[in-house]
Amino acid sequence: QSLFSDVQVAPKDPILGITEAFLADQNSEKMNLGVGAYRDDDCKPVVLNVVREAESRIAGSNFMEYLPIGGMKAFSDLSVKLAFGEDALPIQEGRVAAVQSLSGTGSCRLMAEFMHRYLPQAKIWIPKPTWSNHHNIWKDAQVQQELYRYYKPESRGLDQEGLLEDLSKGSPGDVVLLHACAHNPTGVDPTPQQWKEISKLMKEKQLFPFFDMAYQGFASGDCTRDAQAIRVFLEDGHLMGCSQSYAKNMGLYGQRIGCFSIITDSADEAKAVESQMKAIARPMYSNPPLHGALLVKEILGNEALKQQWYEEVRGMAERIISMRALLRQHLEDLKNPLPWKHVTEQIGMFCFSGISPEQVDRLAQDYSIYMTRNGRISMAGVTTKNVSRLAEALHKVTT
Ligand code: PLP
Repeated sequence: QSLFSDVQVAPKDPILGITEAFLADQNSEKMNLGVGAYRDDDCKPVVLNVVREAESRIAGSNFMEYLPIGGMKAFSDLSVKLAFGEDALPIQEGRVAAVQSLSGTGSCRLMAEFMHRYLPQAKIWIPKPTWSNHHNIWKDAQVQQELYRYYKPESRGLDQEGLLEDLSKGSPGDVVLLHACAHNPTGVDPTPQQWKEISKLMKEKQLFPFFDMAYQGFASGDCTRDAQAIRVFLEDGHLMGCSQSYAKNMGLYGQRIGCFSIITDSADEAKAVESQMKAIARPMYSNPPLHGALLVKEILGNEALKQQWYEEVRGMAERIISMRALLRQHLEDLKNPLPWKHVTEQIGMFCFSGISPEQVDRLAQDYSIYMTRNGRISMAGVTTKNVSRLAEALHKVTT
């Protein structure tokens, strides 16, 4: 009998399981469409040129000290401007509390813990479906979760009616988790008009928006356009929380760099809220890592580098958008009887294809094409070289 004999093996993370199966596969034409990280047209990971340039500028820095608990202030000041807009009123009025976080996951974790401590009555409303880690994060923070309808399988689009109906059941002070753009896993975003309706309802019901923005710029190629939901809510005068990640849009996945912010009612409130964000971070990890903050500060703080970044993030988004068009074209050329319009209507890294778990299994067994069992295709793994093979395999398993 050891101290650990009662510890059971934890269930495998669904995505890691796919990668294992992919790695074990000997087929030279195998495809990994599970992973949520950008690849170029040769299926290779990418380091942005602007990141290389920023790295060369910070190289040799003799600053290796700890950052403060809340991270690098110059970084979070630039970051909230990217999310809320250069001239956003709450920024001008000093009403934004913000700390550097351990990427998007870390921001969500801080928000969940903040709710646990300071909003003990509040529930978190989570879209169905969502990025699966959202459930783990709020569960670990012991915050009660409610689901709201989001995706309509019949139309492979948004269930706006169901969404509004479910959110109207929220209690004042509840928090609603919204994917700011490029909803994961569905790739379905509300239109500007639908965002206005959601914002209006949430204002009436006194629900607090928390935007998870893991893909700013990566969805449409335009950072301002991808923040339009946030701008709609700002216009309506909402206070709100925001999680930003630089994993996808700057390709800084492993650097764990993001920003967690809350727009409060006054400068005094912001001061108090920010001090409590730090009080939560201190016993968790003491202070965030340095390198990513230096890189992002260098890029966002320099007009020329920022423009270069805008161009590179647009390039990544455009490659994915063009792969969507090619995939749909190939499926339609094959005269596949199913509708594939959603492939080009959905946005961001993922395509929620609508195929069944059994069809996903057949793709893996017969064609060495791997994806999550909910039929989510990571478009980042699709290239001009493998798109026709993917379309043919999809055609075969669906007819
Ligand atoms: N939120 C959503 C919706 C995501 O899809 C992801 C990553 O896949 C994250 C947050 C967190 O990513 P990271 O912690 O790498 O920034």
